[in-house]
Amino acid sequence: MRILIVEDEPKTGDYLHKGLRESGFNADLARTGPDGLHLALEHDYDLVVLDVMLPKMDGWAVLQKLREFKQTPVLFLTARDEIPDRVRGLELGADDYLVKPFAFAELLARIRTLLRRAPAREPEILRADDLEVDLLRHRVTRAGTRIDLTPKEYALLQLLARRQGEVLSRSLIASQVWDMNFDSDTNVVDVAIRRLRTKIDDPYPRKLIHTMRGMGYVMEARD
Ligand code: CA
Repeated sequence: MRILIVEDEPKTGDYLHKGLRESGFNADLARTGPDGLHLALEHDYDLVVLDVMLPKMDGWAVLQKLREFKQTPVLFLTARDEIPDRVRGLELGADDYLVKPFAFAELLARIRTLLRRAPAREPEILRADDLEVDLLRHRVTRAGTRIDLTPKEYALLQLLARRQGEVLSRSLIASQVWDMNFDSDTNVVDVAIRRLRTKIDDPYPRKLIHTMRGMGYVMEARD
């Protein structure tokens, strides 16, 4: 995930830059409005953290210009906690805002929420071997044959297909697909996986969903 920070105040800018890098993001820092806009247009960031009060070109102007070309999610940093300012930012197309001073943990939480929400230029079709998950049409096919799934099965398949090759634990699957935490001994995930397998794997010689004993499940085309 690549994030651009546009912040003129040296200490705050450096602090955010360092903090986001340490949190695992690929972060760039611009110290003026024009520099920020230039970088945001030049590269495809997943998110821009944009200070409002900037020299040369303020955050409003940067956002306005950016929106003419791109829908990159923008999180505004504002020193003013005034309703008209917030409204203005949101009207111009900011996705969220944070009033200074703020705790880094809160910034991080907002960033993660925005990144989850953002349709981060994802492919429209996920593929695993001859399985295709059409994300726009919510359609699943294998070897060209349409497969009907329940909404939960679809969500589960989408998660596995998106993170192919990665072993996903039962608790991670439970939290992502059911949006809640299950006790580790529950078999809800196993039952759902079994149902999904009967539809997408059983009729085909090449299996895509594999059990990793004691660890979870992985989607992978194996010979
Ligand atoms: Ca500033």
